[in-house]
Amino acid sequence: MTSREPTLSVVVPIYNEESVLPLLVERLRPVLDGLGEPYEVVAVDDGSSDATPAILVGMRRGWPELRVVRLRRNSGHQAALIAGLFRARGAYVASIDADLQDPPEILVEMLRLARAESLDIVYGVRGDRSTDTWFKRSTAGLYYRLVRRLVGNAVPAQAGDFRLLSRATIEALRGLPERRPVLRLVVPWLGFPSGEVSYIREARAAGSTKYSLSRMFRLATDSITSFSGAPLRAATWLGAGGMLLCLVMVVFAVVMYLRDSTVAGWASLYVAVLFLGAVQLLCLGLLGEYIARIYAAVQGRPAYFVGSDTANPAEEPALRV
Ligand code: UDP
Ligand code: MG
Repeated sequence: MTSREPTLSVVVPIYNEESVLPLLVERLRPVLDGLGEPYEVVAVDDGSSDATPAILVGMRRGWPELRVVRLRRNSGHQAALIAGLFRARGAYVASIDADLQDPPEILVEMLRLARAESLDIVYGVRGDRSTDTWFKRSTAGLYYRLVRRLVGNAVPAQAGDFRLLSRATIEALRGLPERRPVLRLVVPWLGFPSGEVSYIREARAAGSTKYSLSRMFRLATDSITSFSGAPLRAATWLGAGGMLLCLVMVVFAVVMYLRDSTVAGWASLYVAVLFLGAVQLLCLGLLGEYIARIYAAVQGRPAYFVGSDTANPAEEPALRV
């Protein structure tokens, strides 16, 4: 590691990416070397179980700017990203996926734009994602529509976690009490001046996606519940609607009773019971989501544990032996 403070830190969360790493170095390094300014690459190994840790150790031999932060166990993309951002030392800190879906060449453009227009945040916006699967594109489209509706239009559509942040933004993020912020929502919410660079999302260079369907779903629920109480209000409206419906049914039942014809109506009873049961369970589940968030916040457990950091060898018990 160079002793000068880096101008640019590039955070790369990595989970079981043994097949991608050589390709990543091949493309990322020339771009960063070409900057002509001090930089560091913060590779966050998110508890990989394949050859990733060994490959990273090997890569560090010939690349002093590479720094490896290893998390004790797999903590997820967002947690790995946050671990890297908070440890980065650069005046600007960019984050990029390891799989080369975000072209590293864009980093130069982001840095240039941030300086030229004194911006604190530059988003990489995916102009074209035709290389993503139909499923990924449609679920992502739905996610951004929902999130922009609930959180506000400050959240740029189609901006993932490929972005450049200034030191001030990182410090503002660090100042939040939240342990697991959803970065793509919290960052725009901070309100710093921001810009966008559009790019074409490439296909994964090698290996397969590490985002399972359940993780995508988790990110979506976290995004919504961390920023909006709208679903709770929707539950209230649903309840009010249900109550009105019940009132109508009560009147109907009384009239039928007075006319002495109360035997028929099995189907309507059945449907009403099922409907109300479903609505109640749905609303309970919704409450549960928020309570789970409150619970996690109260416990205050960190989103990740750093096992070692090559820039801070005191943290590396494994290497001291
Ligand atoms: N990733 C991670 N921890 C995880 C899952 C993924 O650090 O638990 C990393 C992964 O190595 C990659 C980035 O997060 O660099 C994005 O993951 P991926 O490309 O699998 O997601 P997709 O592009 O399919 O949404
Ligand atoms: Mg990817």
